[in-house]
Amino acid sequence: MTVIELSSIDFLKKKFSEYYKLNPVKPVPRMNEREFGYGEYGKKISSRHFAFANEKEFNEFLVNSAPFYVSASAAYYSFPSKKPMEAKQWNGADLIYEFDADDLKPDCFEEHSFWECSSCGKTGKGLQTHCDSCGQSLKIEEWICPNCLEAVKKELMRLMEFLETDLGLTNGFEFNFSGSKGFHVHVRSKEIEFLSPRARVELVDYLTGNGLETESLGFYYDKKFMHCPKKDSVKGWQKIILEELKELISAEKFSLLASWSGETVSSVKKIMHSPLEAVNEIENGFLPRLTGKKTKIFWESILTAIAKEKKILLDRSTSIDSTKIIRVPDTLHGSTGLIAKRISLNELKEFNAFDEAVVFQGKELKIRVKKTPRFYFNGKNWGPFEEETVLLPESVAVYLLLRGNAYGIEL
Ligand SMILES: [Zn+2]
Ligand SMILES: [Zn+2]
Repeated sequence: MTVIELSSIDFLKKKFSEYYKLNPVKPVPRMNEREFGYGEYGKKISSRHFAFANEKEFNEFLVNSAPFYVSASAAYYSFPSKKPMEAKQWNGADLIYEFDADDLKPDCFEEHSFWECSSCGKTGKGLQTHCDSCGQSLKIEEWICPNCLEAVKKELMRLMEFLETDLGLTNGFEFNFSGSKGFHVHVRSKEIEFLSPRARVELVDYLTGNGLETESLGFYYDKKFMHCPKKDSVKGWQKIILEELKELISAEKFSLLASWSGETVSSVKKIMHSPLEAVNEIENGFLPRLTGKKTKIFWESILTAIAKEKKILLDRSTSIDSTKIIRVPDTLHGSTGLIAKRISLNELKEFNAFDEAVVFQGKELKIRVKKTPRFYFNGKNWGPFEEETVLLPESVAVYLLLRGNAYGIEL
């Protein structure tokens, strides 16, 4: 973490406090049963095991302490502030799904990730782990762009389809921008509140396709035929796998199928002799046959590979770690100065976090910036900057200071 002048940290804290004074945070439901934690500059959780009796107490804390990060438990407890964890007495928990751009790493991610070697000083673009000049291990400077968040949204929508169509969960959802790299889904309902830790792990395994057995999904070998679920009865993973398979065959992606199955491209072509007929066969419950006994192995490797490609990329630990605390919706994020804004599922599609979650609109600030690449924030691109002093809108200046790309303010 960059060394930032203490006076700048004080300035940022003052800004946070002023924000909370004018914008009281609507509490999370049953807030008095949750454990809270908060963080300071550069540290997301520095203290935890706090509890708040009500909304007023919580908002007073925000104004008076102006924490850089505020998190609350998904779990409900009888005694949320007691230590150790067992003393709190668990009374159920929400389900939380967290999606971050750095788990997804969309194509653009590599384009706006940078490194500077602490040993030889070489700089470069991309996500490599070691300096190509001296071999020193590297710390990557990550940036997020609107395109990253679009990719995260798509993943979140895939989760929603799973939850609704597969698991029949249709209400109790709340969505919020994380304040930094992605989005959170909170599920609060009686149906899931008392799921055991084991059931929560199973649920995440199912969503992420971890340990998925294609046979239990209805893809099985019997009497020289590889059977698959018929078109009119498919749902969930069955549907995802079959649709992708039909798409790959129709688009004649034979070399991809060959690489997954270990067969040659020409033999895959032969197996799929006519893509149209192959798709027809699949819709009637059969996968095209191979000569000899290879049918089972061929299809199992392809089906497993498709499931792997299609798994939902969510943060596993957030969903299964029952002691985890997570950003309180509508609070500020101390690495960006953006608000972890609550949004509806309808709003999500059009939501541009780097414009709509911006809150600091005060007067421009002259800040001392480190070497910083070009980045998008609040309506436009900024930089690149060398080591220099720049006059910037307050929101952009706060963003750079909190990220550690700037280290001081000239008042
Ligand atoms: Zn180096
Ligand atoms: Zn991006």
